[in-house]
Amino acid sequence: MAELRFSFTFLCRSCFASGFLGAAEPPTTCPSCGGTRLVVDDDVLSLCIAHLDCDSFYASIEKRDNPELANKPVMVGGKTRGVVAAACYEARKYGVRSAMPTFQAKKRCPHITIIKPRMDHYVSVSRQIRQMMHDLTPLVEPLSIDEAFLDLSGTQTLHKASPAEMLMRLQQRIKQEIGITVSVGLASNKSLAKLASDQDKPDGFFVLSDKHARRWLAPRPVSTIYGIGKSAAKRLTDAGYHSCDDIVRTDVKQLTPLLGKQALFIQNLAKGIDNRRISTERETKSVSSETTFDRDYSHEDDLIPILERQAQRVSRRLKAQALQGNVINLKLKNAQFKTISRRKTIANPTDKAHEIFTIARDLLLKELNPAKSWRLLGVGVDGFGSAPQMDDFLKQMDDKGLRKDKLEQALDDVYAKFGDKTIFSGRQLKKPLK
Ligand SMILES: [Mg+2]
Repeated sequence: MAELRFSFTFLCRSCFASGFLGAAEPPTTCPSCGGTRLVVDDDVLSLCIAHLDCDSFYASIEKRDNPELANKPVMVGGKTRGVVAAACYEARKYGVRSAMPTFQAKKRCPHITIIKPRMDHYVSVSRQIRQMMHDLTPLVEPLSIDEAFLDLSGTQTLHKASPAEMLMRLQQRIKQEIGITVSVGLASNKSLAKLASDQDKPDGFFVLSDKHARRWLAPRPVSTIYGIGKSAAKRLTDAGYHSCDDIVRTDVKQLTPLLGKQALFIQNLAKGIDNRRISTERETKSVSSETTFDRDYSHEDDLIPILERQAQRVSRRLKAQALQGNVINLKLKNAQFKTISRRKTIANPTDKAHEIFTIARDLLLKELNPAKSWRLLGVGVDGFGSAPQMDDFLKQMDDKGLRKDKLEQALDDVYAKFGDKTIFSGRQLKKPLK
């Protein structure tokens, strides 16, 4: 009896060979280099929405900078009373996780090396990586310091390679030039790409095509989906909807009392359908800096200098991302772990350290009295506004030293993709839109 044969589409992560193979089983070795880092999926050569996520970013940078730490468990975070900001994969073997209190991390892994965060340093590495992403496509949407969405549709002609191959080459470039690993999820939309990047960490490359998405999602908890907030997820689970399949199988009318206008959107996400586009507009919601102290403080002489350093840090981060916000936030946590937040909206958006500091200091002074002591202090800025106006955009590009023709190209790309109503000049906005 003749053996049943199928055609498998493959792409090799080692030598970037790609093509089709007729076989009875999905191939596991590359026909070109013999390597085993093969990605096999019918759609691997055509999918073009990616989510890229650095692997234990802060800890990886610290390990890169200090090779003695290479095989040791390392965490970045507060030394005594803080929390884990990042744990390397060695530390994760002991059960150390992000956001875990430091004392607990030390209990699980007594010989762990604890490194104080160097945020400015991480921001500069993040910018290097962001620049490499922009070499692939102008459509990069940063989600945080160490992750971003990329839309590579239409770039095949330019790069003479599939989006998947360009992403694999980007991973290789980041490893060689920056010295850290990143994981990539490749799909047809943001929600699936975000889920995919988490499946094969570290140094992963995971494809989640539409064809497999629904079955793949079915048993997974609704909370794992990118786009479902914590409170919506809780309302769903409280009402007995636990998996994606539970939501897909329910009439959307029954979900509306729980989710309101979002019901259909969320049901679609549970099916693997997501029409959100990659937006190069500012997605960052806030930039902040906070510190958990080694002891509680109540006096302004102790707190104000800390606040000033935090304001400077926030300012540097805002400038690094070319952001200006008009809401200044102050956060305090008292000795009983109760958090209070105070905020002030100002007329003109700012990225200036002294402005942020002055406003935050006024907010802080109102809260201080000798009877109260604080274990945490933080300052943040948000209110970054909507789409950038043309004038601001031009100025930012000028500040970055980008030549006008490059800018024009970038604008043309935006117009071509989203239509010419995407970016308006300040002057244009003063007139009513036709
Ligand atoms: Mg990460």
